[in-house]
Amino acid sequence: MPNTKSFSTVADLQAHLRGHAPTFYHSSRTSTVIPYDKLENELKGPVLVGDLSKIPAEMRMNGENLIISGAVNWQDADQFLKAHGRAIMTSPTEQLALVLAGIATSCTGERCFAFGNMRQQTVRLKYLDQDGVEHELFADRPFPPTEGLDAYQVAFAGYAHYKNAPYPRFEMETDLLIGTEGQLGIVTELELKTTAHDDVTHLFLLLPRWEQDFEPHMEIYQAVQNFRGSVISCELLDSNCMGYLKPDERLGDGTQDVVFLEILSRDFEQVYGELIGELKLTSPESIFEISSAKFHSVRAGVPRAVFEENSKMGVKKMGTDCQVSQEHFADLLGFYREISKLGVRYNLFGHFGDAHLHYNYMPRPEDTARCQAEFEKLYSKVLLWHGSPFAEHGIGLLKQKFIKAFLSDTQRAVFRALKKRHDPHSQFFPQGFMTAV
Ligand SMILES: Cc1cc2nc3c(=O)[nH]c(=O)nc-3n(C[C@H](O)[C@H](O)[C@H](O)COP(=O)(O)OP(=O)(O)OC[C@H]3O[C@@H](n4cnc5c(N)ncnc54)[C@H](O)[C@@H]3O)c2cc1C
Repeated sequence: MPNTKSFSTVADLQAHLRGHAPTFYHSSRTSTVIPYDKLENELKGPVLVGDLSKIPAEMRMNGENLIISGAVNWQDADQFLKAHGRAIMTSPTEQLALVLAGIATSCTGERCFAFGNMRQQTVRLKYLDQDGVEHELFADRPFPPTEGLDAYQVAFAGYAHYKNAPYPRFEMETDLLIGTEGQLGIVTELELKTTAHDDVTHLFLLLPRWEQDFEPHMEIYQAVQNFRGSVISCELLDSNCMGYLKPDERLGDGTQDVVFLEILSRDFEQVYGELIGELKLTSPESIFEISSAKFHSVRAGVPRAVFEENSKMGVKKMGTDCQVSQEHFADLLGFYREISKLGVRYNLFGHFGDAHLHYNYMPRPEDTARCQAEFEKLYSKVLLWHGSPFAEHGIGLLKQKFIKAFLSDTQRAVFRALKKRHDPHSQFFPQGFMTAV
């Protein structure tokens, strides 16, 4: 393990920043694109590891907005809001991740379907710069003039409808820290919009295995697009995921795919009548209610189990994070169907309503090169479809190889200018994508 320095106050952190030591800073270490168990092999040169997860947590309300500083995780933020009749809009499936890190990773999640990504909920933030000085940025002020920015924004326009594009947005002032993975400063405070704590109803729909027939899936996908807002989230766990759940948590007979819908209870009758009742390829006998607690436990249980199995097998996680446009969603499923024939165990789950799924190979160490080759083919397709290859989990260290083809001099020029201005000593995550690719 590289030398680790843990910070128990912001003042500690400021003192460390003034020394300009190259450091990889982390919060809860739930990122799937940083190989935390092998950091000593991955971090090159004299890079320290800086632990931000001990900085005292603070929360307060500003009207309906939530202000967070320090090491607050999503679960605690939601509990705090509940006492104020409010709720988090979008959070990652992994609720133990820290909220401030969510800015760095531009996190999204299930409820992104109704509420958009975390960036859209950010009102303002504070960050520490290279000298440990705190600055405040606002989401309603434009990004400051930067060399090459006009061309960058023109290129970005084609990706504007994705949760996260292949590169950060750099449109408003707060974007400096959003999705830049800690390469330009350390986020210390955040003001977030919240939503009312409304009653919701969760349903699950049992479907045939997508490998055999994904027409019923596509029918639901198309239908649900007109109900964003009343439907808060629309998620998939395929039949291969069921084996990762405890026997009493499995849904159906364990051989079917499952689509979940989270519906505002006050709109339930309308959604049932106009959306679910209109489905031709899913019968009412295949639709069931599930408690909110069970939904969350089942939904989060699968990616956690996949993550743990990969670690146990000693392989890097081999999962995808691609989002495509509506017109290419069937192409994406068709492609996954083809690569599922490789003879390596796999599973498919994720943010179905947003055409954003995680396909995971579960390889033995000797299978990894073959799986990698399939993923390389996938990224060529995603490039062709003008899709987003890493719409949620970011690039970190593990996806740098694959992001290269999505970047050109247009993006690299802006990365260079920003790194020069905000990180002249290369002290913030020196191996991050802004310099490495
Ligand atoms: C089971 C599982 C499910 C997941 N589901 C989702 C999901 O639905 N949506 C999603 O978006 N992600 C998801 N993730 C990925 C992960 O939870 C998110 O990326 C999360 O935002 C990381 O938070 P963290 O506190 O663990 O950050 P870390 O892993 O500690 O750090 C992540 C990155 O952020 C940087 N960073 C951390 N804190 C700061 C800070 N204060 N200032 C500047 N930079 C900082 C680090 O340098 C690093 O580059 C999932 C992960 C797992 C294991």
